[in-house]
Amino acid sequence: MGGRILTEQSKGTSPIELGATCLSKEHFNSLDLLRELGLEVFDQVLGQNPIYEAFSTAPFHTIELPDQQATTKRVLGGTQKLITTLASKIDFLNIYLD
Ligand SMILES: Cc1cc2nc3c(=O)[nH]c(=O)nc-3n(C[C@H](O)[C@H](O)[C@H](O)COP(=O)(O)OP(=O)(O)OC[C@H]3O[C@@H](n4cnc5c(N)ncnc54)[C@H](O)[C@@H]3O)c2cc1C
Repeated sequence: MGGRILTEQSKGTSPIELGATCLSKEHFNSLDLLRELGLEVFDQVLGQNPIYEAFSTAPFHTIELPDQQATTKRVLGGTQKLITTLASKIDFLNIYLD
């Protein structure tokens, strides 16, 4: 459950997003929903030299980014929190799995 949202939760480390991650101000419906559900967001900081892996078979390397233009947000604790919180508010019998 969660579609293209997938947060890898490993004990003792930060959650790692493998699916949808960033929210911009254009995602106003999603931001409203997060607020309504009481879920916190934080500013995504890209930094100047992120680590980039173009293919799983190629070695990763650092790249240089221009100054961050617009601030994007991320869900505190991982995007999957949106799914688990929504699921906790819906009667299980009303959740249809494919
Ligand atoms: C790697 C990755 C990174 C991404 N990063 C971002 C990002 O940073 N920011 C952003 O805004 N977007 C991002 N996206 C896109 C974002 O994930 C999608 O736009 C969003 O998840 C779409 O939501 P949805 O609910 O419409 O569809 P989905 O997330 O695809 O969910 C549809 C769900 O319906 C289920 N389903 C389908 N048919 C049936 C059926 N017949 N019966 C029951 N269930 C069914 C599917 O299994 C799935 O769980 C990313 C996507 C990927 C793959």
